[in-house]
Amino acid sequence: MSQPKSPETIAASHGVATDSAYGAVTPPLYLSTTFAFPGYEKPGAYDYGRSGNPNRDMLGDALARLEGGAGAVVTASGMAAIDLVLGRLRPGDLLVAPHDCYGGTQRLFLARAERGHFDLAFVDQSDGAALQAVLDRRPALVFIETPSNPLMRVVDIRAIAAAAHAAGAKVAVDNTFLSPALQRPIALGADFVVHSTTKYLNGHSDVVGGAVVAADADEAAALRAWANVTGAVGSPFDAWLTLRGLRTLFPRMAQQARNADAVARFLAGHPKVAAVHYPGLESHPSHAVARAQQSGYGAMLSFDLAGGTAAVKAFVGHVRVFVLAESLGGVESLVAHPATMTHADMGAEARHGAGIGDSLLRLSVGLENEADLIAGLEAGLAACPA
Ligand SMILES: *Cc1c(COP(=O)(O)O)cnc(C)c1O
Repeated sequence: MSQPKSPETIAASHGVATDSAYGAVTPPLYLSTTFAFPGYEKPGAYDYGRSGNPNRDMLGDALARLEGGAGAVVTASGMAAIDLVLGRLRPGDLLVAPHDCYGGTQRLFLARAERGHFDLAFVDQSDGAALQAVLDRRPALVFIETPSNPLMRVVDIRAIAAAAHAAGAKVAVDNTFLSPALQRPIALGADFVVHSTTKYLNGHSDVVGGAVVAADADEAAALRAWANVTGAVGSPFDAWLTLRGLRTLFPRMAQQARNADAVARFLAGHPKVAAVHYPGLESHPSHAVARAQQSGYGAMLSFDLAGGTAAVKAFVGHVRVFVLAESLGGVESLVAHPATMTHADMGAEARHGAGIGDSLLRLSVGLENEADLIAGLEAGLAACPA
């Protein structure tokens, strides 16, 4: 039987009804750390749980098919996924990274560069001249993260990947914020896609996990071998839960993006809101690039309150439905204050340089009723000083 190719069908049914022992419709969970050899010098499909596990492979295969890659490795976290790709680099190799990438990613890049594992250059990838100047140094890897966190800036993956390849570099894209439901970087030229599956892919805020998808089969095999060397692999139960979350990825993303659009338009029309950052708004500087390269605008957005820190305190004290918490991508709506939470480690100067003000709030919009979401925000805004 040939495998169906529609992404919605892959998400809903990859691995369904494949159990050969009892005909279980949902995939069984294999917690065993070790697998019996059928005979002398005859390993089976699996031998040891760090080297391979059926649940991890089932999730990895589903993600590789959704991203249009040749294979995937499922890791213990998003950071472990990014670090797995960094394992390709040698001392003297140059890594080019966005100046506004996820804080944990920036910390990892800096820590490894400081130890001499590779050279590192941060650049504003939307600045063509600055990007070309660093590409002239012949980097080994260009890392892209789009949309950015928390200002939702979008860069052109196809253009950056083409320029990077011309300079002899490989390209990795962090696709956490949109998932393959809304963006497929390999089709735009990426060699690797990395995910924090903690976010939309699992979607239920109950697993920390990650994955790397490689466009090329040999690269996928090399990453898998390296994950076995370093032991960065994810647990079988986490993979099983994440595949269960993945079943509903497409309807979740579609509905959460619809809710986010309604929330963005509500906020954009509110007198106590100074600015809204959502690529789905025609006024967003990245709207045209986002429309061309994404199949939706996603469910993350941020906004600046007009009333400064006093307004932020009042808002987070009175907002309803949205929970004050870090992370994103779950079915429940969250609000975070980047300056004191997700981006506190960056320091005030770097934050302000990146345009992250003290009155900026970030929303991860969930699956609740649209009117309830807006009423919840209205409760917070009503408490803000005018
Ligand atoms: C959360 C996140 C990560 C890190 O993932 P963990 O699962 O927390 O290790 C990396 N990139 C982006 C864009 C993220 O949002």
